[in-house]
Amino acid sequence: MRATLMYQAGDVRIVEVPDSRIEHPTDALVRITASCICGSDLHPYHQMTADKGPARMGHELIGVVEETGSEVTTLAKGDLVVSPFAISDNVCEFCRENLQTSCVHAHAAFWDGLEEGGQAEAVRVPLADGTLVKLPVAPDSALVPSLLTLADVFGTGYHAAKMAGVQPGQKVTVIGDGAVGLMAVLSAQRLGAEQIILMGRHQDRTDLGREFGATDVVADRGEEGIARVRELTGGHGTHAVLEAVGHMPAYEQAIGVVRPGGVISRVGVPQYEEAPVGFRSLFRHNIRLAGGPAPVRAYIEELMPDILDGTIEPGKVFDASTDLDGVPAGYRDMDERRSLKVLVRP
Ligand SMILES: [Zn+2]
Repeated sequence: MRATLMYQAGDVRIVEVPDSRIEHPTDALVRITASCICGSDLHPYHQMTADKGPARMGHELIGVVEETGSEVTTLAKGDLVVSPFAISDNVCEFCRENLQTSCVHAHAAFWDGLEEGGQAEAVRVPLADGTLVKLPVAPDSALVPSLLTLADVFGTGYHAAKMAGVQPGQKVTVIGDGAVGLMAVLSAQRLGAEQIILMGRHQDRTDLGREFGATDVVADRGEEGIARVRELTGGHGTHAVLEAVGHMPAYEQAIGVVRPGGVISRVGVPQYEEAPVGFRSLFRHNIRLAGGPAPVRAYIEELMPDILDGTIEPGKVFDASTDLDGVPAGYRDMDERRSLKVLVRP
C-alpha cells in the first residue's frame, strides 16, 4: 500500500510500505477515505533531522472498517469511522475522566510516532473499540470534511474553550488564525461568548473567523496587538485567552490581554519549556494557566450532532484537497501559507 513518509525537514514522499494488518485482537484495519495535513505536521517539516526519519505521517482520519480483531465488539466491517489523534481504551481511570490523551493502557499512543499514519491508503487502529467512533453517513457524504475536524482541530479548539471555562456573556481572545484558532472561535461562540477577538494577520483566514463568530479582528502583534485588544475591552482584557500557536510571543501576548481573574488556555503545542509565571505575569491578578493535548475523543459525540444537522460547518477550514500524490505539495502549500488546511482523499 502507499503511505506518506517524512525523511527529514522539507522532504515528504509517497512510498510503497508493507500493507497494514491486524496485529492484536483489539485492532481494526481501516481503509482511509479522508485524511488531512495538520498545522502541527509543519513542526517536523521545519525541524526534523534525517536520523529521526523516515516517519509515517498523518493523525486525522476517516475510513471504512475492513477487518476487526477477535476482541473488537463495537465495530463491524463496512462501518465508517473517525479516529482522534490519540489512541485510547476509553475505559481506564483517566479516560473515564475525559482525559483520553492520558490513557494508561499499554497500547495508548498518539498516531505521531507509530509505524502507522493517516496520510495513507490504510491504517491499523489499536484499541479500536475505545478509539474509533462510528459516523452515520456514507464515505462520500458532503459532511465528511466537517466530520474530519472532529479528529483533531475542532476538538482541540473546543478543548481550549472548555479549559478556559468560557461562559455565556464573556469576552474571549483567540490567538492564532490557523485551523485550531478558527475552531476555537467557533467553540467560544458555541459556548455563548459575547465578544470574540481574533488575533491573526491573514485576512482570508480572519474573514472565515468572522463567519465562525469573531466579533473583532486584531492584525497587530506584540505590544500594539495587546494595546488594541485592551482598547476593545474597556482597558481590562478578556476573561479567556485561547492560545492556538505555541510560540513564546503568543504566550506573552496572552499574558498581555488576559483580564484580572481570567484564564489563559493553551492548545498550541508549546515550543518552549520556560515561561513567565511569576508575580507580574500571572500571580498579581489571579491569572490561571490551563490547557494541554486535547482529549478530542471526549468531545466527538457532543460536537457531531450540530455538524450532522448543518448548524455548523467546521469543514470550511479545508481550502484545498488532493489525492496521496499531492500530499508533498500540500505540505509546501501549507508551509508557505498558500493553503490553510489540505484535505487528503487517498
Ligand atoms: Zn484509557
